[in-house]
Amino acid sequence: MSRFLITGGAGYVGSHTVLALRERGEEVVVLDDLRQGHREAVPPGVELVVADLSDRKQVKEVFASHKFDGVLHFAALSLVGESMREPMRYMAENLSNTLWLAEAAVKAGCMRFVLSSTAALFGFPKYIPIDENAEIAPVSAYGESKLMAETGLKWAERVHGLRTASLRYFNAAGADPQGRLGEDHNPETHLIPLAINAALGLGPELTVFGTDYDTPDGTCIRDYVHVTDLADAHLRVLDVLNERPSVRYNVGNGNGYSVREVIETVQRVSGRKVPYREGARRPGDPAVLVASNQRLREETGWQPRHESLEDIIRTAWAWRAAHPQGFSSPAAKSEAA
Ligand code: UDP
Repeated sequence: MSRFLITGGAGYVGSHTVLALRERGEEVVVLDDLRQGHREAVPPGVELVVADLSDRKQVKEVFASHKFDGVLHFAALSLVGESMREPMRYMAENLSNTLWLAEAAVKAGCMRFVLSSTAALFGFPKYIPIDENAEIAPVSAYGESKLMAETGLKWAERVHGLRTASLRYFNAAGADPQGRLGEDHNPETHLIPLAINAALGLGPELTVFGTDYDTPDGTCIRDYVHVTDLADAHLRVLDVLNERPSVRYNVGNGNGYSVREVIETVQRVSGRKVPYREGARRPGDPAVLVASNQRLREETGWQPRHESLEDIIRTAWAWRAAHPQGFSSPAAKSEAA
């Protein structure tokens, strides 16, 4: 058994990864400031340290009071739109939190570090599917902040021998297939939960951001990767870090789905209409983002288990329909107890 520190472990991807680590029999400690995360998303028996990562004293104390075999660093500011209104805050916070966390890990002798990175690193890609050799050219301050974090970690690798993995997530989606966890952001900006909320009458009608893209149906194509598959990638990468000192992987399903396909699938799965209107393009949105997951598959043995959009949306729908208020729904509170 190993013990891992999970920053942002009460958030969406972090909490699903906590669950996967627990199922493998690992011990985990979650560090989360609960600004975006939810106490109810942390399973019983898992220690939750409520702290801000910028509080370096508290971070050091966590390392002083536990011996960790690795850090999985999910906690970050992660809204592209917000990052274009507050670019300095995004870059300063995401970079410095990563650097000081890495420094604390190295000082404590914890030498495996997995960073949640992003497909936003690739900006407007020159070819599809996007592999790890694609040009890095972010077009948002969020993407830039993750590039800066990756660059910072390179120096922790070179100078201190920290073993680091950067996982460039494509569009995380879906929910735990057993219904224990789901997606609950505030504000919610992601397509699938917004479409589901619109179908349930819990949110406003959906706006389709652009119908004149150079794609078969005119709407943007994205690579939706099931959050449980994403969690599994972290577990495999932790093992790979024992063999290799430094790895970077694009983590996507490898299939692209359009905004219209998402709407149609939500309607089919839910048996309800998704009220929507067609609107203008959202600035900074590339027409198509689809990952090549070949390197991840070959080097880690990873294989997505929930590849179809229908499967992904079915799990997301099941959780939201059972938890209309997300983690503050009565069902989520009693499940956590
Ligand atoms: N999208 C949309 N309406 C919305 C939210 C998103 O049409 O209210 C589109 C967006 O333009 C993109 C896709 O859905 O093409 C996925 O967007 P999301 O914000 O979920 O993830 P992103 O690709 O920005 O990481």
